Amino acid sequence: MLIPMIDLGRCSACLGCIAVCPAVFRLNAAAGYVEVIELAQYPADLVDEAIKLCPEDCIAWEENTGY
Ligand code: SF4
Repeated sequence: MLIPMIDLGRCSACLGCIAVCPAVFRLNAAAGYVEVIELAQYPADLVDEAIKLCPEDCIAWEENTGY
């Protein structure tokens, strides 16, 4: 299964992906970074929209290795 991943090295924490797709992306306030919520299935349209709008171009679909 493909899951959205954030390259945290490039993420500027603009929170744009959370605005577009709060079901998938959330702010880990304690750690101070944006993370992907674990879901059985991801809404592809909304994730694609977030990928398109991410100013740092740091969201991508990746194969879930099971870890
Ligand atoms: S839209 Fe991109 S840069 Fe902005 S918080 Fe999300 S992953 Fe980070």
